[in-house]
Amino acid sequence: MEVSPQAVMGRFFKLASVTAGIGAVHVLTLLMSWYTVVSDTITTTPIQGYVITESMYMSIGGGIIGGVAVLLSSLSSSIRTARWLIGTTSLVGALLAIASPAYAHLMIIPALHAEGHLGIGIFMSYLSAIAMAVPAVTIIATPIRVEVMPYTGPYYPSVSPPAVEEAVELVQAAEIPPGAICGICYQELDPSATLMCSGCQTLFHKGCIDIWVNLNGTCPSCKKPVLR
Ligand SMILES: [Zn+2]
Ligand SMILES: [Zn+2]
Repeated sequence: MEVSPQAVMGRFFKLASVTAGIGAVHVLTLLMSWYTVVSDTITTTPIQGYVITESMYMSIGGGIIGGVAVLLSSLSSSIRTARWLIGTTSLVGALLAIASPAYAHLMIIPALHAEGHLGIGIFMSYLSAIAMAVPAVTIIATPIRVEVMPYTGPYYPSVSPPAVEEAVELVQAAEIPPGAICGICYQELDPSATLMCSGCQTLFHKGCIDIWVNLNGTCPSCKKPVLR
């Protein structure tokens, strides 16, 4: 299936957001009981995940790195770089998140030499960490076959660029209709940083269209060259 670069970038953004969202849930599992010490048949002491300092740092670190992947997905300039950067960042966050309950489970809890049983928190921590890895792996495994935009303008035998008078400009959008979305990432527009193509009137995030125009020099919607 051929997909446009903006659709691929939008997809990476969504997947990175899913990793970050699950990462936030993963951090919350630190508040749950990871192990319950049973001192005698009546007295039980729950140990929450955050009590295990190393696991707390690993889980929070994994969550933060998952969030950084979302940032990268809005800053990346080329799709191949984006896949590599966003995919590996998400994956590193997920692996760190998996290391957190594994460390508690395999190193800390056995060292306690205390009778007891694993709590729901450590299972939730494992589960959320593994769930973080799924979108990360999906990003890395996404095949990139970006379609070559067919040139629909008049044919110039000398391969000269389209006439300058056809060029469009990016202008500050005067107003944003409710529900309007960015023509590149399909996300909601930010009134303070929205640009409009003077030719086709399509609205874009400033960040999205800047990257696009740097790469292609044209409007992604009407394909006309953009004057800078
Ligand atoms: Zn956008
Ligand atoms: Zn345009």
